[in-house]
Amino acid sequence: MTPLVDGFGRVHRDLRIAVTDRCNFRCTYCMPAEGMVWQPREEILTFEEIERVARLLVERHGVDAIRLTGGEPTLRAHLPVLVAKLAHLGVDLAMTTNGVNLRHLAHDLKAAGLRRVNISCDSLQRERFAAMTRRDDLDRVLEGIDAALEAGFDPVKVNMVVIRGVNDDEVVDFARFGRERGVEVRFIEFMPLDAEEGWRSDAVVSYDEIVERITAVFPAEPLARGSAPAAGFAYRDGKGRFGVVASVTRSFCDSCDRIRLTADGQFRNCLFATDETDLRALLRSGADDDALDAAITTSVAAKWAGHGIETVHFVRPARSMSQIGG
Ligand code: SAM
Ligand code: SF4
Repeated sequence: MTPLVDGFGRVHRDLRIAVTDRCNFRCTYCMPAEGMVWQPREEILTFEEIERVARLLVERHGVDAIRLTGGEPTLRAHLPVLVAKLAHLGVDLAMTTNGVNLRHLAHDLKAAGLRRVNISCDSLQRERFAAMTRRDDLDRVLEGIDAALEAGFDPVKVNMVVIRGVNDDEVVDFARFGRERGVEVRFIEFMPLDAEEGWRSDAVVSYDEIVERITAVFPAEPLARGSAPAAGFAYRDGKGRFGVVASVTRSFCDSCDRIRLTADGQFRNCLFATDETDLRALLRSGADDDALDAAITTSVAAKWAGHGIETVHFVRPARSMSQIGG
């Protein structure tokens, strides 16, 4: 077993797989309202191709966590079949979803071996939710959260992207919601990966501000931090936890252990990477595992120190979040 180490000594064990680029939402901070062109089916990796790359990373390089994402992963037909294949690899298998389809799928996914689920929800107010996602589906998402809890996922986490002037007045409401429902809310700083390039630094609500607002109402203590991107907090009264993903104001690049595979088989060594390695071409040209491995190892070795969002040198990646997978 050879760990996947980059030039800065960071070991990579966490693989994110986008299983589709399609989505049934059009979140304002992620996708344009119209005009998304989905990748043709034949360009999307098959389950067998995904499993081959995942197996290689697990068996040769000790990858021990896999997260399925998208687009919206639950739109991929027969998703439980893929989950079962990946669960056999013995990894911590998780999924990030908008939650709309979980009321139908939660049990099958759990039975197939999915361990954890993060559900994205950015407003608890119906009209605002509809404006932010361009879909009037808040009730279905809330049902999805309940379905995930009922199916026995533990923990169930809720991801809220906090945007100033849009939903930042709901930070404490979400903390309360998490405490009441027994879910861990992760507050995410708005990142410059929106398809419409509407990101501005003053729309970012910082880690400090989020923590201050929550702890003023619900006192909490910071938890020790590992490689996880979310800085965790435990409420002092024992009613659960919350997390803050501060990719902008406190980037966690120094301890980043993530690598990514897009739905069309491109390997990315960073969420913000500006170039990719074409594993699909290798997979479909009969390359053996050593050739695949060499391409992956070379990409990881070339990983940069950090994304540098705060610097003048920052370049937005050509793909938006919905195509990379978050
Ligand atoms: N469709 C699924 C969902 O919404 O959970 C999975 C894909 S989505 C791209 C993954 C995560 O990225 C979601 O939690 C979403 O809120 C987050 N995200 C999308 N655009 C973002 C942005 N510009 N800044 C911060 N987070 C973003
Ligand atoms: Fe779709 Fe998720 Fe992007 Fe929203 S955040 S548009 S649900 S991929």
